[in-house]
Amino acid sequence: MSAFSRASGGGKGEPRPFPDAPTAYGPCGASCEDSPKAYAPSKFPGASMASAASAPSRHSGDSAPSRPAPAALELSFVLALAAALAASLAPSGAPSVGPAPLMAQDEAELNPPAPRLAAASYPVWLFARFLNNGRGAFAVELMTRPETGCPHEFNPQPRDLERLTQTRTLVKNGLDLEIYLARAIRVAPPDVYVIDASSEVPTMINSYGRLSIPGEPSPQAAMEPNPHIFLSPRLASMMAANIAKGMSARDAEGAAHYQSRLELFQADMRALEEDAALFKRTHRGYKIVTSHGFMDYLAQDLGLTILADVEPAPEVTPSAARLRKIADLVTDERVAAVLLDPHADLKLAQTLGSETGVPVAVVDPVTAGPADPPLNYYQSVLKQDMNMLGKLFPVNAS
Ligand SMILES: [Zn+2]
Repeated sequence: MSAFSRASGGGKGEPRPFPDAPTAYGPCGASCEDSPKAYAPSKFPGASMASAASAPSRHSGDSAPSRPAPAALELSFVLALAAALAASLAPSGAPSVGPAPLMAQDEAELNPPAPRLAAASYPVWLFARFLNNGRGAFAVELMTRPETGCPHEFNPQPRDLERLTQTRTLVKNGLDLEIYLARAIRVAPPDVYVIDASSEVPTMINSYGRLSIPGEPSPQAAMEPNPHIFLSPRLASMMAANIAKGMSARDAEGAAHYQSRLELFQADMRALEEDAALFKRTHRGYKIVTSHGFMDYLAQDLGLTILADVEPAPEVTPSAARLRKIADLVTDERVAAVLLDPHADLKLAQTLGSETGVPVAVVDPVTAGPADPPLNYYQSVLKQDMNMLGKLFPVNAS
């Protein structure tokens, strides 16, 4: 790999203005809400399935989703934006009562705060933290909350937008995983440098739902690339390389450091890839149902075949007809397990499991976690996921 170019400036000071324009974003196609989902667990299949569809939900598959009107959303965003801008212009800390002491000024000039690097979702935040460790040229911050999970419907609050007004470097997963950025990016400085971790990462088309149910709205994103590339050691390795390249562009003097950290990360990923390859050789022909398309790439690495998603689109409550069809599919196709992300409706899946006799398990997609996780948190969670799946599916080939 060629050496990164060096440039004057960089280091721990304010990053140099970057010539590239911010990445263009698509329109916000989701309702951009961040509150917990309103699922309605019920027994099924059978007459009681109706209660699942008729229970209160913002995203019923049987009826038009109850979402704030676009005008209301726009007003909400404008108000949040105004609050963020006002906060960013206001003096910070205690009111100034005169010139700062000379020693404090000298201290500030000698040790300026590290410039912010805002991460738009949890996995890329973990990757950037790992690469930054040992140099600290950036203050790496998470734009969402540690508990958010997949940010398909994350709705940034004024404090989140304020953070974005003060960042010059933004790293995102890309592929519209962080759909909230479509509007939130407006508050960022015009020369913000966007690192798209998905750049040149091979993708597969979204298979949201994977089942066609009459009356269900087809997701707008159905024919677009699946954004869950982070849950594959093979692709995470490429994402980290993109982030290291972007950090080096912003901090040229640290290029050798980021390359060294990247090589450590990629060594961990290669070990996980070998584990996945072994799983694929020794676990043949297993079919699964997932909560949404969160583990399409990991399933590909492991050789698991996904037949259906419980949710017709991320964080959309399934209809009774959909649940009934999935229950039939699980039985007819001898599905081996129902695998959920931690934010899915566990009770609903457990009911599906008890009705069909298949195990239900939670796979952690590392989209949420501690606010101050260990540096190798991603690696350790992925290892735990693969160990769990190895126990769930019996070895059936040598
Ligand atoms: Zn997701």
